[in-house]
Amino acid sequence: MNEKKSPLKIITLGNPTLRQKASELSVSKMKSPEVQKFIQDMAVTLKVVGNGAALAANQVDKLWQIIVIELENMSAKVLINPKIEKLAGKELLAFEGCLSVPGYWGQVWRKERIVVEAFNQHGEKIRVKASGFNARVLQHEIDHLHGIVFIDRMEDMSTFMTTEELERQFEKGRKKDA
Ligand SMILES: [Zn+2]
Repeated sequence: MNEKKSPLKIITLGNPTLRQKASELSVSKMKSPEVQKFIQDMAVTLKVVGNGAALAANQVDKLWQIIVIELENMSAKVLINPKIEKLAGKELLAFEGCLSVPGYWGQVWRKERIVVEAFNQHGEKIRVKASGFNARVLQHEIDHLHGIVFIDRMEDMSTFMTTEELERQFEKGRKKDA
């Protein structure tokens, strides 16, 4: 059990903020104490929750274009104003979960590879390339900033299932929520 308290509350499906578009931040705004503190709080929240790969600001009820990430093989930890520069490779179908849709999973098609342009937490321009699961997480998170939840991308709602059922059907166990 994690005894650390989450500084921010994660909102769940039905909260209107999950369906709204987040705003871009100016570079001076990114560097402001208010935003710096918020990014720190997002990172701690993601760690405390423990089972998430990433978190978008919409998920903590803030309409800023900020994503924090906890992924192996990805050095970028914060993406501000992310823009998809390129989607490439195959379309891949896999189960996704979401910290804002706790306890449920569903299959979503995503592109195999992605290139994203963004700013880091210091307000510096960065370019992030990812493939496979990491590319899926980035597509999922950038969707959040545009008010899109993974269930909106599902083509076959019969794959929408509880964690219990997913584990029953796939003995390998669960992937991380995003
Ligand atoms: Zn999500």
